[in-house]
Amino acid sequence: MTTSETTPAGADGSQPMVYAHDVHKHFGRHHVLRGVNLTVPKGRVHVIIGPSGSGKSTFLRCLNHLERIQQGEIAIDGERMGYRLVNGRLREDSGRNIARMQSEVGMVFQRFNLFPHMTALGNIIEAPIRVRGMSKSDAMVRANALLQRVGMIDKANQFPSQLSGGQQQRVAIARALAMEPKVMLFDEATSALDPELVGDVLNVMKQLAMDGMTMVVVTHEMGFARDVGDHVVF
Ligand code: ADP
Ligand code: MG
Repeated sequence: MTTSETTPAGADGSQPMVYAHDVHKHFGRHHVLRGVNLTVPKGRVHVIIGPSGSGKSTFLRCLNHLERIQQGEIAIDGERMGYRLVNGRLREDSGRNIARMQSEVGMVFQRFNLFPHMTALGNIIEAPIRVRGMSKSDAMVRANALLQRVGMIDKANQFPSQLSGGQQQRVAIARALAMEPKVMLFDEATSALDPELVGDVLNVMKQLAMDGMTMVVVTHEMGFARDVGDHVVF
């Protein structure tokens, strides 16, 4: 994957929410990302459309440091992701710093990856309690509001196996939002769904965009890209 777009960080005086510059990623001898650049201002939706195998998932995984990069820079809200400068050289950041920054980047994958042994509500309150130390009652109040927002309040006590793929994806979005992320990454969030379930999930994503969430969306949905994307890259 390559892109030609280059926008210096803060060129217009404001800090981009997502900044990637000259990102290179190799898997062994396979050079998958060859100098990828991306600048997403706060509140914008950046859609990535591209052929299978071109490195879209890998790039999203690099953005929240689920993958190491071999060259380049990634920053979220002005803070370098995954690495820090030590005596003028880049070192991988501490696990603690990486985890803190990762908790500010929400991710929704193609395959619903809810915890199967927890209800919809249980899935949503888990990380705020465990990672953020929120009280259970506060987390429940927030989770109910999020379930309302994604149209799933009546399924709060259902387990993932009792939900359709589209319903599971909407819970997965609510679960990511529960951490109050600065940015949401979507990796083909609707492509494993039966066609009649795609619309509900896209509507939740559109609403999120209208509410001002900064988003990077890998999708095949051209309509969504046209309607919601501020910037579409092929
Ligand atoms: P896309 O999401 O655009 O379909 P991917 O990012 O999944 O593409 O994959 C890009 C390329 O990187 C593919 O050739 C894939 O086989 C390879 N790749 C992805 N993950 C790994 C990995 N963990 N190890 C080795 N190769 C990988
Ligand atoms: Mg992919």
